[in-house]
Amino acid sequence: MAPTAVQNGGSAGQELSKAIDEIGVQLTLSKDVLDKILERFHERMFHGLANDNQNMLMIPTFVTGVPDGSEKGTYLALDLGGTNLRVCEVILDGKGSFTMKQQKYKVSDELKRGKAKTLFTFIAQSVKTFLESESKTGSASSGEELLLGFTFSFPCEQTAIDQGTLIKWTKGFDADDAIGQEVVGLLQSCLNELGVKVRVNSLVNDTVGTLLAHGYQSKGPALLGGIFGTGTNGAYVELRKNITKLQVDDPLEPAPTYMIVNAEWGGFDDERAILPVTPFDNQVDREAIRPRHHAFEKMISGMYLGEISRMIILSLVDRLLLFKGFSSVKMNTQYAFDTAYMSAIMDDKKDASDNSSPTYKVLAETMEIKPENISAEDIKAVRRVCDIVGKRAARLSAVAVAAVIKHHQEEVSPDNKEEVYNLGVDGSVVEYLPNFLDWVREALREMVGTETEKKTKFGFAKDGSGIGAALCALQASKQEKDHHH
Ligand code: BGC
Ligand code: MG
Repeated sequence: MAPTAVQNGGSAGQELSKAIDEIGVQLTLSKDVLDKILERFHERMFHGLANDNQNMLMIPTFVTGVPDGSEKGTYLALDLGGTNLRVCEVILDGKGSFTMKQQKYKVSDELKRGKAKTLFTFIAQSVKTFLESESKTGSASSGEELLLGFTFSFPCEQTAIDQGTLIKWTKGFDADDAIGQEVVGLLQSCLNELGVKVRVNSLVNDTVGTLLAHGYQSKGPALLGGIFGTGTNGAYVELRKNITKLQVDDPLEPAPTYMIVNAEWGGFDDERAILPVTPFDNQVDREAIRPRHHAFEKMISGMYLGEISRMIILSLVDRLLLFKGFSSVKMNTQYAFDTAYMSAIMDDKKDASDNSSPTYKVLAETMEIKPENISAEDIKAVRRVCDIVGKRAARLSAVAVAAVIKHHQEEVSPDNKEEVYNLGVDGSVVEYLPNFLDWVREALREMVGTETEKKTKFGFAKDGSGIGAALCALQASKQEKDHHH
């Protein structure tokens, strides 16, 4: 006989909501806390600009110019990000617009976690397939050399615009023997082996691509390219002279004024000096592929937000406060509570007792919690949990954005008081998580003041890493020519 349902209203409901209040306190970041994290973040930026191998890497990209919309030509772009591999052919019209043909290829878990050579051969093969089936433009078929920008969104130690050694994998990739290898050479040799006549002339982090793409499309330089997606990171325009760790063997002469820096801010505070880490974060971290790496990313990005929420939900189940104390096989599975479900739940405006609500559907249908164990109180509770986790992610993201704006005001462009802060962003979290940008703005106001916040323009550079890689290929060939003159 089925156990009689305990009504989860009344005092049980109150206990649940009290428990969530308490969890909310643990995950709330007051203005004071934000200010302290911001101060540390800014200090670590300088630290990484001066020293190699820091947790926040502050990688010089050797990209010394940003587009303004006048760029023209046809380029190939490859984008290996968190989920898909994209091959694109981008035609820049010189008027801030472009046309793009693209093809997506799914990167299986076996490829992500196998041998480097297998992964890169797969990438090269995708370029070959693309060129054979999709590309019909002149430059692809004419004798002219076809240039490719390679968006590779993992931390690489760069030594030139077309050279970088993989430092570590993130976001579920784990092809171990790739660590320490120069990835452009690796890709080029796989392309050569397959007889693909393409030259890889630039290595581009997705944040750099986003920065370039946004500058091109908004016809005015952007100062930040930020990704809030499967992972998180930012690239920004820095004064060359501030990058003190790049010294005598600087291959760029004459020394440029600016250089884009890839912050790799996902690794901020891996030393655990400042971030208020909760037991839920520790649990996510411990069970991740690389524990104790990318602490900041694990509190912000789409790969982990659902997982943090899942940890909180399970803790409430264990205390018999949620779902009458019963979980499900699905709910017990690592990464099963996708961040996309959070978005659906946070968007849910239906009544908590309405069984056609998105929250109910996620819980009962997708997560397979038994319907008889789901009360209206539970629905409200799960919504609150997602909000708490999402809001913290947004406020932490705002710290990184505030640091870059502050840095820009103090260092890069101290005289320009009328300036707008033109930021390009992309990624599933900023695009789909309800309220994310509003929460970012709210926290920005607290940290940098209303005036600066008002002058801050967020622009979506959707799939910016594709066009950005093409722009980077163009920029690289410009820099090559300048260098040879
Ligand atoms: C990587 C960065 C990348 C970011 C967003 C992080 O995990 O370390 O290189 O820019 O994800 O894709
Ligand atoms: Mg991407």
